[in-house]
Amino acid sequence: IRWTEGRGWHDAELVPYAPLSIDPANMTLHYAQTIFEGLKAYRRPDGSVATFRPEQNAGRFNDSARRLAMPELPTDLFLAAVDALISQDRAWVPGTGEQSLYLRPFMFAAEVGLGVRPANEYLFIVIASPAGAYFPGGVKPVSVWLTEEYVRASPGGTGAAKAGGNYAASLLAQAQAAEHGCPQVVYLDAVERRWIEEMGGMNLYFVHAEEGGRRRIVTPELTGTLLPGITRASLLRIAGDLGYEVSEGRISVDDWREGNADGSLTEVFACGTAAVITPVGAVKSTRGNWTVGDGEPGPVTLELRKALLDIQTGAAPDVHGWMHQVC
Ligand code: PMP
Repeated sequence: IRWTEGRGWHDAELVPYAPLSIDPANMTLHYAQTIFEGLKAYRRPDGSVATFRPEQNAGRFNDSARRLAMPELPTDLFLAAVDALISQDRAWVPGTGEQSLYLRPFMFAAEVGLGVRPANEYLFIVIASPAGAYFPGGVKPVSVWLTEEYVRASPGGTGAAKAGGNYAASLLAQAQAAEHGCPQVVYLDAVERRWIEEMGGMNLYFVHAEEGGRRRIVTPELTGTLLPGITRASLLRIAGDLGYEVSEGRISVDDWREGNADGSLTEVFACGTAAVITPVGAVKSTRGNWTVGDGEPGPVTLELRKALLDIQTGAAPDVHGWMHQVC
């Protein structure tokens, strides 16, 4: 679908996957006005296909659009585009269970010009790819590199938007993590370099040791520099349903390290559309390395992972009305 100044959205079309031809002066190539979303369609045991909370992706997409001075896309157009792509061939949504069809809606400036200002033309496109189970051999904990050199987002910046530039800026920290043998990076806040923000593509949750029957979990609060994850928001509800006391708060690096050392923090997990929930097994940083709990996937992590996946895959009733039936 194309957006042109003065005309709005027009010319929606469903076409075979093919390269785009780009003018060398396309404004996106120079000024990075590009945003995206990621969501999954699952085949349910009855054969129907459903997406998980796609209207949340549409809402976040428009939040990102506003931040990047781009036009908003009406939610019904966002949903219709995603549904049309999935429905054109049901066969490419893999079988039931954790397999899915990953959908990638995105928008970028389509104007040709070198002036630094919001473009007057944009393209919104959705592409898709079948995705296997994230952990085919069983859930495995991930080691994370806590970067103290780079930040993902600063106050007043684009951290709460799903903007391409945020990911470009994170690649160097990601490469450093890989050099330390860690597949993921954890970022701290830009101001004090003290508060845990999130990972490169996932939000974080911290599980407290049970005290007198109280089961507490906490996730970093949305300060404007974190991406408001849809999985994160869904887990706030699911954990509450399961009897956990869930809160959003501030967790410092010291809270994390000392909590693991004295046993008051028993588990840490990351959450996002791709992996749903991934246990964090170990932390490496210039301040030292430590193990999270016993380094194995913990019971709370596995319980929440199952509860969420069961809703997404249709194995459990959709009590919150989160699934959107496509076909
Ligand atoms: N943080 C970042 C930086 C991300 O890219 C993602 C993936 N969209 C998330 C968190 C998790 O968000 P969601 O649960 O909506 O996939």
